[in-house]
Amino acid sequence: MSENTYKEPAPYHKGAENPFESMMIRFDKAASMYKLDEGLYNYLKQPVKQVIISIPVVMDNGKLEVFEGYRVIHDNILGPSKGGIRYAPDVDLDEVKALASWMSWKCAIASIPFGGAKGGVRCDPSKLSMSELEKITRRYTSSLLEIFGPDTDIPAPDMNTNEQVMAWIMDTYSMHERKTVTGVVTGKPLVIGGSRGRTEATGRGVMIATLAALEKKGVKPELTTCAVQGFGNVGSISAKLLSEKGVKIVAISDVTGGYYNKNGIDVGKAIDYVRNNGSLKGSNIGTSITNEELLECDCYILVPAAKEDQITEENASRIKARLIVEGANGPTAASADKTLEEKGIMVIPDILANSGGVIVSYFEWVQDRLGYFWDEPDVNNRLTRMMNEAFENVYKTAMEYATSLRLGAYIYAIDKVSKVLKLRGIYG
Ligand code: NAD
Repeated sequence: MSENTYKEPAPYHKGAENPFESMMIRFDKAASMYKLDEGLYNYLKQPVKQVIISIPVVMDNGKLEVFEGYRVIHDNILGPSKGGIRYAPDVDLDEVKALASWMSWKCAIASIPFGGAKGGVRCDPSKLSMSELEKITRRYTSSLLEIFGPDTDIPAPDMNTNEQVMAWIMDTYSMHERKTVTGVVTGKPLVIGGSRGRTEATGRGVMIATLAALEKKGVKPELTTCAVQGFGNVGSISAKLLSEKGVKIVAISDVTGGYYNKNGIDVGKAIDYVRNNGSLKGSNIGTSITNEELLECDCYILVPAAKEDQITEENASRIKARLIVEGANGPTAASADKTLEEKGIMVIPDILANSGGVIVSYFEWVQDRLGYFWDEPDVNNRLTRMMNEAFENVYKTAMEYATSLRLGAYIYAIDKVSKVLKLRGIYG
């Protein structure tokens, strides 16, 4: 095996819960509260398609390497399936299945006409050259040509994939179609059919959902403090937009560690620092804290925007925040739900809180199909309207069932998807 490729698989979700099981625990609870018909339950709990492919690539040193790739379509009841592709050394079928189901519920809650999907390639992009990444992406795409398509299944970026990867997917698909098909992926660069506002969309959605929750609680944003875990796309934009609304950001962190400043962190300065230095390390914008300490720090709002399983049965009892807004996918393990609920902490679940990204991805797909592109205020106004509607629908459902926003979100999604499934009927 060559030096610049991944060697040993990293331990799979070390110490964490299996993400598919974590998702299923919530789904099962919601399905039972909703009294979902057993047949429909059996239909919705499993993905409709799971594909595993081998991706042979001749590496820069001339050696042949084979990577494993996945695409899971959880459902395509509301429309073509939609979901990102992640490149990571420890990605596996279970993780992709969980993420695909989350996409189904997320799209249903956001009222966009998509089912849920997700994809992944087991590789370590930090050890791959651009040319190797491009070969992996093109071969992955060509192996899934029958699956992908603007009317069938539409990928997007996820962990370690970006605009460039989307451009390669779009080009590979288009070469086989003998015409440019921009609508086959979202998250593309603006010049080849991307949407204005997409980069900020998830963080903007987090900000909108946070303000909606504060309004329900009767708390003014200017009187609140917030800690944000993860300072990448979602975390940094959430922090920036929340601070613009008057929320005092008292703690931020990334994989290198965090900082706490009770007088408030200058988010713009932190973003500039990361842009110039690659991470928050050495920024000294407050007192140094660990990521674990950030989660438990004194703040009103906590935005976990880094990765899965950060809030667990072990640390849930020590969390001081009164509102958790899940920027990341799956940051709260199912085992922590009970403690958070008992403590009266409001949790805006990932499938609602971070849906701004897929909503603007939907706008991108619409614009590609129209061939007409909107201004940024248009995008942001439509996003604000759709996020607020989604929040309200979930909130009402949670009230109706006297349950948490998380289970309310699942119930709302199950209701919508199962009703459409009944209307369409089962072919066969
Ligand atoms: P990103 O790669 O831009 O940023 C991730 C950030 O988390 C980085 O600052 C990184 O240093 C930090 N981080 C990584 N491991 C950490 C750890 N162990 N402790 C603390 N910080 C750590 O990624 P992103 O696009 O901001 O995505 C973050 C999360 O949001 C992921 O769960 C992703 O699936 C989810 N999400 C992203 C989008 C989107 O549009 N980008 C949409 C929906 C959900």
